[in-house]
Amino acid sequence: MTTATIIDGKQFATRLRASIAAQVARLQAEHELTPGLAVVLVGEDPASQVYVRNKGLQAREAGMRSFEQRLPATTTQAELLARIAELNQDPAVNGILVQLPLPARIDPEAVIEAIAVSKDVDGFHPLNAGLLAVGGAAMVPCTPLGCLMLLKDRIGSLAGQRALVLGRSNIVGKPMAALLLREHCTVTIAHSRTRDLAEECRRADILVAAVGKPHMVQGDWIKPGATVIDVGINRVPTPDGKGRLVGDVDFAAAVQVAGAITPVPGGVGPMTIACLLLNTLTAACRQQGLPVPEVGPAVL
Ligand code: NDP
Repeated sequence: MTTATIIDGKQFATRLRASIAAQVARLQAEHELTPGLAVVLVGEDPASQVYVRNKGLQAREAGMRSFEQRLPATTTQAELLARIAELNQDPAVNGILVQLPLPARIDPEAVIEAIAVSKDVDGFHPLNAGLLAVGGAAMVPCTPLGCLMLLKDRIGSLAGQRALVLGRSNIVGKPMAALLLREHCTVTIAHSRTRDLAEECRRADILVAAVGKPHMVQGDWIKPGATVIDVGINRVPTPDGKGRLVGDVDFAAAVQVAGAITPVPGGVGPMTIACLLLNTLTAACRQQGLPVPEVGPAVL
């Protein structure tokens, strides 16, 4: 029997994008400002091409300018850095995102550090990571920002909640933990060296799973009534050979125990691009010295 509330990230993201589009229209009408997002893709990785196309499409749907920069797989690091320098200087471009992964000979850290901090809409620049850690005006990585919005929409104030973040990557786990700490949660970060992982998880009122291991989090790892955010996107084989996407949480078991849970797909995934648009809007306003409009639950 299903007991948990299913957190509908797809529907939330649709509302968020509509709210962003309304703010973009207002910026155009009042300030003749059209936020611009540049997405840079090096090479022809099929999954990356789909992501880049979707980001461009959704930016345009929100009324933004989209600059899709497709560079050949033979592009050198120097050429990519030169392109980023041009985008940094271009006043029509408010946000810059370089689609990862990059070809092996290009150092992703050098590329991320070349993006202007104020245009770093992925929030991966070390200065933005530092600003998030000290509570400054950071660009916050899109996936954890989306998770936080879903949590605040569901729970309201997070103060005093015991939160466990499973995974400590720079793009999900660490910024997620920083955001939850900022919301006054008591935060534990678990990873591959954590002892008694199931026991750690069982203590959590909020469990965010970002490991990349299909169905790793079992039903009996979850505290009854907890809110579970499943960031994982894992493709598992199916008899018809097509495969299907599953999360890091054993959804069928967890839904019997949790108070609320995000599905995969349709949970965190759709929030990521919506938050990319939100970051582009925020970047455009900050660059122009305009107040950042409130869209969705106030999280920053
Ligand atoms: P990483 O591979 O960078 O990090 C995985 C983390 O999980 C690491 O910290 C690792 O620990 C930890 N981990 C791995 N195995 C175990 C284990 N057996 N027990 C405990 N901890 C473990 O992944 P990402 O953070 O980039 O992504 C995580 C998942 O989220 C993936 O499925 C990815 O596809 C998905 N994702 C989804 C997004 C979305 O839009 N919904 C966006 C980004 C990612 P250690 O550090 O010790 O190695």
